[in-house]
Amino acid sequence: MLEILRAPDPVLRATADPCEPGDEALKEISEQMAEVMYNNNGCGLAAPQVGLSKRLIVIDVAYDTEDESSRDPIVLVNPEIVELAGDPVIDGEGCLSCPGISVPIKRKPYAKVRYYNLDGELWEIAGDGLLGRCLQHEIDHLNGITLFESVAPELRIDALNAYEEAKAQGLKPGETGIEVKVR
Ligand SMILES: [Zn+2]
Repeated sequence: MLEILRAPDPVLRATADPCEPGDEALKEISEQMAEVMYNNNGCGLAAPQVGLSKRLIVIDVAYDTEDESSRDPIVLVNPEIVELAGDPVIDGEGCLSCPGISVPIKRKPYAKVRYYNLDGELWEIAGDGLLGRCLQHEIDHLNGITLFESVAPELRIDALNAYEEAKAQGLKPGETGIEVKVR
């Protein structure tokens, strides 16, 4: 079973390497990543979060945590943002690699992303709301960006303090009980 790395692990700050589109090995890896994501009630997981510095993410923003048959993960190989649009929205984000906290992050709501699927075919996915936010969050991971780099500079110390508090409380991936507030 893959293990989730937690901030400040250096792998989370590295720029991940491109994958070989169509590489058969990605099927097994992404299946294991999806399992980790579902086991922790996440809506996305990037390969660096399980220690693999590869441009590979798994996303599912629409499943029911009580119903395994509703799971429908999308695997994105070498995803690239091709368009962001809309007035920026601030919303709380959690991260399996920063367990216990929710941090306000400002993002444009709409994202269009180009990627390869597991068969090496080029695809695009686009959406706003949770999907747009999740795509941007996971692609940030491929560029070494965690919540602490995405948060507004004036809230960075608050976010780090909240994370220390979450660690002290032993909060687990999937938990986001300590909420950092916009000042
Ligand atoms: Zn994350």
